[in-house]
Amino acid sequence: MSFTLAIVGRPNVGKSTLFNRLVGKRLALVDNQPGVTRDLREGAARLGDLRFTVIDTAGLEDATDNSLQGRMRRLTERAVDMADVCLFLIDARAGVTPIDELFAEILRKRATHVFVAANKSEGSAADAGVIEAYGLGLGEPIRLSAEHGEGMNDLYSALMPLADQFARRAEQDAPETDVSVDEDVEDAVRKPTKSKPLQVAVVGRPNAGKSTLINKILGEDRLLTGPEAGITRDAISLQIDWDGLPVRIFDTAGMRKKAKVQDKVEKLSVSDGLRAVKFAEVVIVLLDAAIPFEQQDLRIADLAEREGRAVVVAVNKWDIEDEKQQKLRDLKEAFERLLPQLRGAPLITVSAKTGRGLDRLQAAVEKAYDVWNRRVTTAQLNRWLTGMLEAHPPPAPGGKRIKLRYMTQAKTRPPGFVVMCSHPDKMPESYSRYLVNGLREGFDMPGTPIRLTMRSQS
Ligand code: GDP
Ligand code: GDP
Repeated sequence: MSFTLAIVGRPNVGKSTLFNRLVGKRLALVDNQPGVTRDLREGAARLGDLRFTVIDTAGLEDATDNSLQGRMRRLTERAVDMADVCLFLIDARAGVTPIDELFAEILRKRATHVFVAANKSEGSAADAGVIEAYGLGLGEPIRLSAEHGEGMNDLYSALMPLADQFARRAEQDAPETDVSVDEDVEDAVRKPTKSKPLQVAVVGRPNAGKSTLINKILGEDRLLTGPEAGITRDAISLQIDWDGLPVRIFDTAGMRKKAKVQDKVEKLSVSDGLRAVKFAEVVIVLLDAAIPFEQQDLRIADLAEREGRAVVVAVNKWDIEDEKQQKLRDLKEAFERLLPQLRGAPLITVSAKTGRGLDRLQAAVEKAYDVWNRRVTTAQLNRWLTGMLEAHPPPAPGGKRIKLRYMTQAKTRPPGFVVMCSHPDKMPESYSRYLVNGLREGFDMPGTPIRLTMRSQS
């Protein structure tokens, strides 16, 4: 599967109908009662020559008015987190409703790629609704009729460029497997090659030493460095052989030179870093040992985690540090406290200037990439889950114990797991954290974001 598409929108806009059309089998129920389908479901979709996974978020069957918005939000957010692309459906006949607006807001904040589609748009009764959909601020609406199969070409044209973008990833990803049948997929570790180098971004505050670091890795003075913030001219990406590891490094320092005012420096660096992070598979967050974990560092590290990238933290200018032992303890303590979401990520001390520690940095990058790609078999996972449940039974909110039935790894890059359970919406955050931390330890997966989704069986 090259990518995952989530179909989101309020009940009755036609999500299941579209899902069925894309999947081609009647996997999801369709009914004109709002939200007859339960919870999220996945299918293997085809659209022209595109193959992808589609997630249907219909699933608000017994929502009372009061809880509807909250449940819809949670369900949608879960789908968004599982998906690469979101297709937001509105009912063109009904026009844009306040609930649609709410969805648009969630999606604008949370999703990386969103398309809006005006469904039920066969015939002229839908024209007004299509025009209203422009107002959602999510780009040009795709005119669809899921029921009649109209507009599928436009959907194809919208998805095609993204499919290309994800194609590289797809080639490296596991062969087509359904989430429930990956028993015989071994812990596949994909190795970067010359034609598919590992994509690395070096991000960090101005003057952290990014250019110096990249220069040192390159072994030649291809980049300008200097004491002023952002002296480097242009955003660059260079492919190198880093001690046997084919790597493409992104550094977008060039944008920083436009920044003159202090607050602008921060703003530009972050958006700058964002671009680099989007390109990258592994993100090196470079800190200045003298001023580590500043607000800006935390933001970029958090961003890398949220974008699902493997993260390696490198503390630079270690050559000028006197109290190395004490400093390292302080750094580790600060790291755990300030970036709990990156628990277990490697912290490597380096000197970009002298080159010390760069071998360890290289090894950490390679390891982080391997972990990010790791696939655990369902059999292994469920043996592990049994032990976790015994050690710490799940909570029983309101006297009813949540049952965790089984789990499976739905994706890699970063690893994403799905736990089938009763009352997924009642699962406390602390228990999810227990499982995520357990996964890290049980399967040696430090330094990668781990996505865990609770799903009720449907
Ligand atoms: P969901 O709740 O968003 O999953 O919506 P469904 O897929 O269950 O569809 C709700 C209703 O809208 C059903 O009666 C469908 O037959 C109908 N519907 C779906 N797509 C279209 C369409 O393109 N045109 C028209 N006119 N009706 C549609
Ligand atoms: P960038 O803005 O992050 O690209 O930072 P630069 O690479 O331009 O480095 C900023 C300043 O820090 C320059 O004066 C570098 O010489 C200095 N610098 C970079 N790395 C080190 C290091 O490992 N040790 C020391 N002492 N200085 C460094």
